[in-house]
Amino acid sequence: MMTLPAGFVRFLFLLLIQASAGKAVAAEPERLVLARAGNLPILLTAPHGGLEGIPNVPLRSRGTTSMDAYTIELAEALARHLMNSLGGQPYVVAARFSRKYIDANRAEADAFESPHAKSTYDAYHDQIRHFVAQMKQRFPQGALLVDIHGQSEDPGVVHRGTKNGATVAALIRKHGPEALSGPNSILGVVQSKGYKVFPPNTPIGNPLEDRRYNGGNGGYTVFTYGSRNPDGLDTIQIEVGRDLRTDSRFIAALSDGVAVFYRTYLEDPLSPHYTSNAINPSAP
Ligand SMILES: [Zn+2]
Repeated sequence: MMTLPAGFVRFLFLLLIQASAGKAVAAEPERLVLARAGNLPILLTAPHGGLEGIPNVPLRSRGTTSMDAYTIELAEALARHLMNSLGGQPYVVAARFSRKYIDANRAEADAFESPHAKSTYDAYHDQIRHFVAQMKQRFPQGALLVDIHGQSEDPGVVHRGTKNGATVAALIRKHGPEALSGPNSILGVVQSKGYKVFPPNTPIGNPLEDRRYNGGNGGYTVFTYGSRNPDGLDTIQIEVGRDLRTDSRFIAALSDGVAVFYRTYLEDPLSPHYTSNAINPSAP
């Protein structure tokens, strides 16, 4: 048997160690971002529901660091409901990392302070960008990104954030303002089931959306991927009050809202995902 020089063996060994270490580092941002492709023209995102720390990244010293508790769970519950009512899967992207380290719903300059956070921040947004581009191709009839948040100031209210219609410009152009605030809109259905929503499905801009929840102070996701951009989708930020996020009756009402919206505005009878024979989600 041929014997390799000891120096060469050591070199090979070091190469192997480095390769596996590199792999472990590269896998870390992916571990901190939950991402799943779907087959419905719906993308659920949740930037503020994570609890995980990020190796070598210190706590942020500025900006909001409080989490939107139960919003990953809410996204997952919505996905399960949509599977039952529509027979398909929404796309899902959620930050498992804590907002204490990165605020994924901010532009890069305001999202984190340590350069070690960049790869994790990029992993979250690369995944959304990738799904948005894929969905643009796959669903030419339109697709919707729902950015799921929580707020505690109005614990029983759902606030809508679309920059007063700008992030759903394509939807409104195609279907009119009732697609955002009419009876078959997401929050139109939620309101019809007895929940308080703001704005209360009145004509867009009267009253204006609450600036705290429509991107006045953030809203980076709906603004960046919204259909005010030709390569964006329609996007809506939903700020779910603290008392509602774990309420199964509310979760069912919200998923009915998404399902009714899908059937009214997104469903393409020619697509293999056509589900008109599935159970009517509005049925009692
Ligand atoms: Zn939030």
